Amino acid sequence: SRILLTGANGFLGAHILRQLLPRPGVFVRAVVRSQAKVEAVTQDFSGFSNIDFAIVPDITAPQAFDDALSKTDVPFDAVIHTASPFLYSAVTGNRDFLDPAVKGTTEMLKAVQAVAPSVKRVVITSSFAAVGDLAHMDKMAGSRYTEADWNPVTWEEALAGDMNTAYQGSKKFAEEAAWKFVEEEKPGFDIVTLCPPMIYGPLEHTVTKTSDLNQSTARIYYFFMAGKADAPLPEDSLYLYADPREVATAHISALYTPEASNQRFIICAGQVPSQSISDILRARFPELEERTPMGKPGVSSLSGEPYSASSEKAEKVLGIKFRPLEETVIDLGKQLLAIEKAE
Ligand code: NDP
Repeated sequence: SRILLTGANGFLGAHILRQLLPRPGVFVRAVVRSQAKVEAVTQDFSGFSNIDFAIVPDITAPQAFDDALSKTDVPFDAVIHTASPFLYSAVTGNRDFLDPAVKGTTEMLKAVQAVAPSVKRVVITSSFAAVGDLAHMDKMAGSRYTEADWNPVTWEEALAGDMNTAYQGSKKFAEEAAWKFVEEEKPGFDIVTLCPPMIYGPLEHTVTKTSDLNQSTARIYYFFMAGKADAPLPEDSLYLYADPREVATAHISALYTPEASNQRFIICAGQVPSQSISDILRARFPELEERTPMGKPGVSSLSGEPYSASSEKAEKVLGIKFRPLEETVIDLGKQLLAIEKAE
């Protein structure tokens, strides 16, 4: 099958490539923003010849994706759209989150409808940020979130609020726009949306400086590996997680599973209290003894009735199985220490 993948140079995009490219019969066109990114992806996936590139410098531009989708000898079967702003350091205002997220999604859907009638499915990376009311964590206590839940943030709040609210709004309004498009246009393709919480786990793209880490990985590095043993544990705010390997598998399964048609899925491995991350890192890596907040080893740092999320639907329909947390944290910890040593 022939697949168009946006955000191919990103943290998640690289995991999707790592799992897609070895599949027989697959050809991927990777969409990135610049030639430098074409080169980075080419290097990371140099063993594969079943990939080519399209450069789309501005995904909010009208007809942004028309050429990427139509200039091809073999028509596309499917699209995976992961590109969306998440790196806070790359954003200067709330619009920088909202516009690329929403317009990037709607431009993709419009382009598929206009120039790529062969595409039968578009898989869209949404987020748990579109599900839970993360700006009001007090209201989330005790809830077990499912695919029926939506973050109640309004457009005005997303525009005027802090960067977290802008990001949460960007994911919600992008996903909402996609569902609205399908409902109103009844296009010749269906969509699948995937809602992972924080994605923690090893990298499949080359990062040579810790300052270049993606948002969720940077959270682990700076909060758990670059502090002090007697510093307070990082606050347990974003403690639901998924491993990028399973999130990537979910995207691929979403491409090929007929029953996933027009469905939304939460992709969540479970809760990860800050204490657990610290305990695993401290037990496995002696060099972190002085740098990883110790907290109270073995005592869960989640208090009250911590919210949770159900991944039953993803397990059942997409066949996703989640690996143990230890593996996720150790695989990432090893890699981050190696990046740090080499920089
Ligand atoms: P990265 O920052 O590593 O990758 C983001 C990708 O999107 C990059 O290819 C980036 O391109 C592209 N992108 C960002 N901003 C823009 C923009 N304004 N215009 C065009 N392209 C843009 O993050 P992730 O891989 O983690 O994110 C991938 C997707 O997963 C996003 O949709 C994100 O919301 C979602 N997600 C991520 C979670 C996580 O914890 N990591 C959790 C839940 C959802 P460039 O390199 O050129 O900036």
